[in-house]
Amino acid sequence: MRPRRLVTPDPLLAHHAPPGSEAVVVGGGIAGVSAAVVLAERGVAVTLLEGARYLGGRLGAWPERLPGGDEQMVEHGFHAFFRHYYTWRAILRRADPELAFLTPVKSYPVISASWPAEDLSGLPAAPPLNLLALALRSKSLTRRELAAANADTGRALLAYDRAATYAEFDDMDAATFLDQFGMTERSRSMLFEAFARSFFCNQAELSAAELVAMFHYYFLGNPEGIGFDVPATDYATAVWNPLRRHLERHGADVRTGVRVSSVEPDGQSWRVHAGGEALTTRHLVVALDPGALRTVVAASALSGVAPQLVRQCENLRVAPPFAVSRIWFDRDVAAARAPFSAVSGQPNLDSIAVYSRFEEPSVRWAGVTGGSIVELHSYSCRLDDATEAARALRHELATLWPETADATVLHTYDQLEATAPAFPPGSAGTRPGIRTDARGLRVAGDFVEMPYLSGLMERSAMSGVLAANDVLAELGVTAEPILGVPQRGLLAGVPRFGKAKSG
Ligand SMILES: Cc1cc2nc3c(=O)[nH]c(=O)nc-3n(C[C@H](O)[C@H](O)[C@H](O)COP(=O)(O)OP(=O)(O)OC[C@H]3O[C@@H](n4cnc5c(N)ncnc54)[C@H](O)[C@@H]3O)c2cc1C
Repeated sequence: MRPRRLVTPDPLLAHHAPPGSEAVVVGGGIAGVSAAVVLAERGVAVTLLEGARYLGGRLGAWPERLPGGDEQMVEHGFHAFFRHYYTWRAILRRADPELAFLTPVKSYPVISASWPAEDLSGLPAAPPLNLLALALRSKSLTRRELAAANADTGRALLAYDRAATYAEFDDMDAATFLDQFGMTERSRSMLFEAFARSFFCNQAELSAAELVAMFHYYFLGNPEGIGFDVPATDYATAVWNPLRRHLERHGADVRTGVRVSSVEPDGQSWRVHAGGEALTTRHLVVALDPGALRTVVAASALSGVAPQLVRQCENLRVAPPFAVSRIWFDRDVAAARAPFSAVSGQPNLDSIAVYSRFEEPSVRWAGVTGGSIVELHSYSCRLDDATEAARALRHELATLWPETADATVLHTYDQLEATAPAFPPGSAGTRPGIRTDARGLRVAGDFVEMPYLSGLMERSAMSGVLAANDVLAELGVTAEPILGVPQRGLLAGVPRFGKAKSG
């Protein structure tokens, strides 16, 4: 299985924008920076406005003072950089052409208090071999269970097709879809629950079509196998400082700490209001998290020029908060612990990352102190207070890794934040797309309706590059190429045998 070329540049078009071309990008996360990088490289004078003091959004990093006065960078949370994130990796190559800052994570178990661990790494890249290998290797999935599984549901996983999958499954929730599959609690918990929650949603609140799409994107249709890398140092050093320098070398005006309150049409242009200032631009890319986009659009006079965008933003749903707790322990965790483990079956804890096993500043700190740095995530947290969530995560960690129960906590950094998009049943087709009904205003981010399949960070990067391509098209400039995974599953379009499904 090979990556597919989804956008091919037209060699007859100019590579560079005409002199005087300009654009404003609002939001300096992956989506906004990806758009800004492509536009700036093509000679567009870009102004990038980011509300926070640092670039990166949900991948951002900022300094945290430790007891004793040392400073260490902390992040919004551990991120897996999958090998099929072709667009995001192409942007990252501007920071480091060899991607030498990325280091492979060789195994990543799914662990549980109730059942033996599963390891999803090292599976073949092509379907149905990956599915067969999983079935043969899995400790949870029995052959009897596989034989008894609902064939229609199994087929749906192998037959991803954007139009057909969303038409058939978007109104169903992921929990009902998995109920129909007929798996035991163990297989479901070990193979699907941890996976579904990585999308910041509980199964009952996630569209079954989105689950099928993501299963195809990350597993069945992934030409690189389900492998990922992690930055060997903090995200500011690895990603954001070099990307900012790259942007500035290409003439971009990068402004952090500038919060945009509203935008309004101004003839053929847009006025962007930030604090007491207003910028005027012909081309506007709005790359915010879904809640911020909803707020900015609600505060903007857009109902006359972009009624569809206004309606789509009113419908945008934000996922429940995610909790991240980074803990500086006075001792190491057991030697056998993996650098990253997905967790299943706990009320809150979804993943554990041992930073002192792979991230250079943390490795250094642990070397000096004999301690360890462990980060705990709850992707869809039931609690609504950061301290309470951190306490629950720590307690659940001690259930799984008993050596941490008596360890002394030297420092913690706890967050609880609701900025991830939700993909509830019935929401396909209701979210904003990249091109809006307001001429010149494009939207990017990990929630937008995409023409091509992608997920999480890659969805942000791809939407940013597609938004930039839309600006370039209007300027008569050739597009940035985009690669992706095969857009349809092995059985997509293959007629069903046997009893037709009603409804
Ligand atoms: C804990 C955690 C773990 C994750 N793990 C993974 C993973 O392993 N793999 C993966 O692929 N993805 C992961 N993700 C998801 C990934 O981080 C996001 O999909 C991606 O970073 C979103 O980027 P974005 O640019 O679309 O949005 P954001 O990063 O949210 O960027 C939006 C930007 O807009 C800015 N902004 C907001 N309001 C305003 C305003 N009014 N004016 C100006 N600027 C404003 C924000 O400050 C922010 O910088 C994880 C996310 C979290 C939180």
